[in-house]
Amino acid sequence: MRDLSRLPKAHLHLHFTGAMRLETLVDLAQASRTRLPSSFIDGDPLRVPADHRGWFRFQRAYDTARHLVTTEETMRRIVLEAALDDAAEGSRRLEIQVDPTSYAPFVGGLTPALEIVLDAASQATILSGIEVAVVVAASRMRHPLDARTLARLAARYAGDAPGTVIGFGLSNDERAGRTSAWEPAFAIARRAGLASLPHGGELLGPEHVRDVVTALGPTRLGHGVRASEDPALLDSVVAAGISLEVCPTSNVCLGVYRTAEDVPLATLLEHGAQVALSADDPLLFQSRLTDQYEIARRLGLSDTALAELARGSIRACLASPASKRRWLAEIDAWLAGPADQETVVPVSSGS
Ligand SMILES: [Zn+2]
Repeated sequence: MRDLSRLPKAHLHLHFTGAMRLETLVDLAQASRTRLPSSFIDGDPLRVPADHRGWFRFQRAYDTARHLVTTEETMRRIVLEAALDDAAEGSRRLEIQVDPTSYAPFVGGLTPALEIVLDAASQATILSGIEVAVVVAASRMRHPLDARTLARLAARYAGDAPGTVIGFGLSNDERAGRTSAWEPAFAIARRAGLASLPHGGELLGPEHVRDVVTALGPTRLGHGVRASEDPALLDSVVAAGISLEVCPTSNVCLGVYRTAEDVPLATLLEHGAQVALSADDPLLFQSRLTDQYEIARRLGLSDTALAELARGSIRACLASPASKRRWLAEIDAWLAGPADQETVVPVSSGS
């Protein structure tokens, strides 16, 4: 078996605060004399049922961390550490998701908040050797007009290079709001050339996946695993070229599936879905990118199948064709290497 932390891959579903290292959170809590909930320090990942109360507990823990992010320095630290951690796990491209709204009051507004994250992404690209690009995500818990404001802001920084905004997302409790209310925000983003990257098919099933696909025209679906419950729908998602950002540990921690073995990865792959395994919120779930590939291995995937899974993550990312070609060749090199020892694959320059 080959070392999965050296398998080249792209990380396409990672939230800004949820990417924070636990040590960083502890530093911030100590500096501000904040008591952290036991779920952070007892060594056990958060686990909640997939109902409103469970989601509320998850959000409360997430908010504890978010409320400690009150300076530009901390924002830059989070992006850089996320990139360094990704680089150590074979990631070649990180597309980190942020809603700048929460941090805007501390740094002089929405525009500076986003500019800090983008500049940090450019810096992290140089320092980590992996490409770091940004997805601006609106929250379902806020008014859809706020999402339009965010989409206009995101549009001003649209690009495909590291340190630019490459997509527009919609996160938080999938059960909140009417999906079509966010259609105008996604239209603004689309006109600017941004990819549509909403969450969907995690807490809600096929019906809602259909709503998200119809209203928001996703390039990729955040999660999308519940599309597996309706084979015809899954086939249409695959035929439409919509990739799925599948986060097995997150699904288990948020009660969507009882165990990682219940995550329908095999079904998705059998239907030809292009899957990018991702960690979602490693701070809360205590499981990072390579761990998701380890789970896939435990589900019975061979190294050949795991390499194909990683190719899916590269194909699904929004990097330049030249970068993608390079990383796909590096995956071939990983697979061509010996199975019982580590294969040295050079980290790309990220330019
Ligand atoms: Zn997410």
